[in-house]
This record gives sequence, C-alpha cells and structure tokens, in this order.
Amino acid sequence: MTLTGNLLIGAAGVPTATGTMKALNPATGELIEPEFAFAGPTEIDHAVRLADEAFDSYSHSGPAERAAFLDSIADKLEAVKDELAARLALETGLPAAQFEGEAIRTADVFRKFATVVRQGRFLQATIDPAQPDRQPAPRMDHRLQKVALGPVVIFGASNFPISYSVAGGDTASALAAGCPVVLKAHNAHPGASEIQGRVIQQAVGEAGLHEGVFSLVRGAGNEIGEALVDHPLVRAVTFTGSEGGGMALYRRAQQRPDPIPVFTEMTSVNPTFALPAALAARGAEIGGGLVQRAMYNVGQACLKPAVLLAVDGPGFQEMRDAASAAVEKAAARTMLTPGIHDAYTRNAQRMENDGATRIAAGPAPAQAWDGQSLLYEVSGEQLLAEPTLREEVFGPAVLLVRLTGLDQLFDVACAFRGQLSATLHAEAADRAAAERLLPILERRTGRIVFNAFSIPQEVSYASTHGGPFPATSDSRFTSVGMGAIERFVRPVTYQNFPDELLPESLREANPHHLWRVVDGELTRN
Ligand code: NAP
Repeated sequence: MTLTGNLLIGAAGVPTATGTMKALNPATGELIEPEFAFAGPTEIDHAVRLADEAFDSYSHSGPAERAAFLDSIADKLEAVKDELAARLALETGLPAAQFEGEAIRTADVFRKFATVVRQGRFLQATIDPAQPDRQPAPRMDHRLQKVALGPVVIFGASNFPISYSVAGGDTASALAAGCPVVLKAHNAHPGASEIQGRVIQQAVGEAGLHEGVFSLVRGAGNEIGEALVDHPLVRAVTFTGSEGGGMALYRRAQQRPDPIPVFTEMTSVNPTFALPAALAARGAEIGGGLVQRAMYNVGQACLKPAVLLAVDGPGFQEMRDAASAAVEKAAARTMLTPGIHDAYTRNAQRMENDGATRIAAGPAPAQAWDGQSLLYEVSGEQLLAEPTLREEVFGPAVLLVRLTGLDQLFDVACAFRGQLSATLHAEAADRAAAERLLPILERRTGRIVFNAFSIPQEVSYASTHGGPFPATSDSRFTSVGMGAIERFVRPVTYQNFPDELLPESLREANPHHLWRVVDGELTRN
C-alpha cells in the first residue's frame, strides 16, 4: 500500500488544509516520508456530519451484515500485517515481530466482536408481556433493547499502535455496537494509522455501508481533539493516554450544553503484593518475573506491574537481588516518542527527588530516546508519606517497597488510588492475610491477579480493563474484552407496540434466536 498522507473522510482521501507532519523514527531521529495532512475545523465538521448521516442505516444494520463487515476488517488487517509491522518498526523503534503478533491478535478481536453481534446478547432484549387482567391495574406490554449511542470519537493511543489505535478494540466495540467512528489518530504513528484506516475504509465500501461509518483525522495540537469533543453531533468519546489529557477532554465534554460520556483509560501502577509465605517460598521468582513483565514494550504498558510490595523478612533479599539482576540485564531501548522519553526521564528524577533510592540500573542508553531500565526502593513509611511515589512512571522503571509488617501492607494498599489491576502472590499459609487484603483491592481495582503477572491482556468475555479513577473515568465499564461494547449502547423501552413495528430482536417470533429475558426468565423461546 503506498501511503498518501491524506485524511480519510468517509470514502475520500483528503489532502491537507492546515499543515502537515512527517513521522519520526525514534531510533534514528530521522523523519520518514510522506507528509501527513492535518485536519482543520472544516474537515472535522465534515467527518462528524458524515458519521451522523451514516448512523441511522448503520445502527439498524442486521446482525449478519454487521458481523460480516467486522470479519472483513479482520481479514484485511491480517492481510496487511507484514507492511503494518514494518512501518510500525520504523515509527516506534520496536521490533516488527511484536507488531505482527499485535495485528493478528487485533484481527481476532474484530472476529470476536462479530460473534458478539451474531449472539446479540449485548442488546439485552427483555420482554414483560402485557397482563390485561392484572389487578388492581392491567400491565401494558413493555419491551427493552439496547440501541447504539450515535457517532463516537476515538482517540488512538500511542503505546499499542494497533490494538489501542485505529483498528483497535475501541473501534471494534463501537462498530459492533452500531456506532459510526471518527478516529483521532495519534501523531506517533501516522503511517501505521493510515494503513489501518484504509483497511477499514475499504471494508466499509465493499460492505456497501454508508461512507460515514468510518473517518480518520489528525491534527497539530489540542484544537482538533477539542473540536471533536465539542461537536454537537458526537455522542461519546474514548481515550487512552495521560491523566492530564484524559481529564481535560472529560471535563470539556461535561461542560457541553449536552454533556456526553467520555470513557478514558489513563494511569495505573498495578501494585503487586508478595505475601510472606509466597515471598519465602519464591522471592527470586517473583522479583525476576515481575521485572521481566515490567520491561515489556519498554515499560510503556498500562498493565506494567510498576510497584512490588513485600514485608521485610525471609525471601525479601532474594526478591530484591533477582529484581536487580533482571534490571541490570534489561538493555536501554528506544521509547515511543521524544515526549514520552522526556516525561520518563523527568518522572524517574521525581522519584529520586521524592526520596526513592536507585538500587539497580540497566546498561546506559546508546541513543537519544532510549529509556534506561531502573529499579528503585522505598520504605512503606515513605510510600505512605509521599503520594507522588504512588504515581505512574511511564517507562522501564520499577519501585520496590520494603514494608515493616502486614499492618503496614494493609495501610499502604489502602493508600493507592484506583488501579486497572493488582496482583497477589500468596501460598496457603498466607490465607488470612489474603482474605484481609482482597476487599481492599476489590475497592481499588478492576482486576485482581493471583500468583501470575498481569499482562498480556486477554480479550475475552470475562476481561475487565477498567477500574476506579484515575485508572479510568468510569469504573462501571471495561475498555477491553467483549463487555467493551456496553459503553456504546443505551436502553430503549417500547411500550404497547404492535409486533410489526418492534425491532426484530423484540418480535414474538424471535427471528435471530436471541437469548431474551421474558417475564424475568432467560429463554430462547
Ligand atoms: P496524551 O498526551 O495523553 O495524548 C493522547 C492523545 O490525546 C493524543 O492524540 C493527544 O493529541 C490527545 N490529547 C491529549 N491531551 C489533549 C487535550 N488537552 N486536548 C485535546 N487533545 C488532547 O498521551 P501520549 O501522547 O500517548 O503520551 C503521553 C503520556 O501519557 C505518557 O508519557 C504517559 O505518561 C501517558 N500514557 C499512559 C498510558 C497508559 O496506558 N497508562 C498510555 C499512553 C500514554 P496530541 O498528540 O495532538 O497532543
């Protein structure tokens, strides 16, 4: 595929109106061809209006048609995986093989959402039949199904440039729900964004859908994101990135004349608790294994286990030594963007200013935007006293926390803000402590991992990638897994309707053989 650098607005490739950029190879510092167009207010308005025009027909497309469309995106994504991976290797400095795997996994996510659409359970079809003879008053027939919200704006993330980007899980779940998508591409990987965008654009055309089902725009600064969030026809927003950016967009959306939901996924340190018996039994395994996980993607992962906590005692030194050895072996590697590298350097320095002791470091960086692997240590008392020590350092740094006893462990666990995940390493002898820790973690996380490490993320029906603020802006929802579709639908009840005017999911004949709740009972009849 020859990259054009155009915006993708409906079926058209639109050249720039307001300026251009080139991709940067963060490993070499070189700019890469071609020039990529920036959108202005006219292009934003056009993309959102097209999405709104597409909404009625797309949101009413049948399950077979919509599922076939999602399957076709999956096939096309897989077909371009080699060139996508090659371009991403240039735009991120990370190995191409990593992105081939990410492309295949992401294609699979589209196929899974195709299944979700065919199953139709997300519609939550519910029927309370009429009770004309009910006393003291009759009941009319009430039927409920979930309907799509409307055009959705998706901010592509920088750190997983397929699975959380243009053809990522947010796009798959919004399209599965019946919502047209206007994608705000991240400027860290414009070429890979175009490849993914054109795959979806082509699938829209081949499926005979309205061209406004998908558009891709990009811009030079905050204005474009603000204009998208402000646009009166936009009905929901998703975002993965910094807490500052996510909350700025969230607050903006709440200040609209008609506030809309903004589902942000922002920041998490994913604390790992090694309880005493587990520490004594396998301290080295826990220390070495955690660091290995933390260094995945140069530590630029929302599920990076960034903080390892344990009570000083048998196994602690082994854990510390193994973690130090793993950090010393972890080569400095290119970070995604100069901005992310600079933030990493600043935040690592912040840890030291806040009193953390650097106990191990990886080999020195060879290139300008390499992130050096770092291991810090603090006491439980320090962690409790200094809230910024509990904040994310996005990059290859891990913080070890030496606790005085279990009481301090519970105090520290209570001090964390909301998290995407937390991990517990425990043996049978740790049961009482685990039982006391679990309710503390439940209140603060969307996922609790037992005797394992929290990545890679499973995209399945039981996945939760969410959690209380600031992990996300709405802890009721997940952004990964089949439940992610629920962000984009809302309930509508049809009262006293004739069968022929009802949506198909609610008709007497149940033509799609959906599971429905009829008079309170789940049935397919
Ligand atoms: P970001 O700065 O939050 O930007 C994400 C996207 O949102 C970009 O497209 C950006 O556009 C846009 N944006 C940000 N603030 C905005 C605002 N106030 N108004 C309108 N648009 C806005 O994230 P990033 O560039 O990916 O990385 C920066 C930092 O975010 C990292 O150093 C890291 O700390 C954090 N991060 C965390 C995670 C995680 O999973 N925990 C993931 C990614 C990033 P522009 O690029 O045009 O500004």
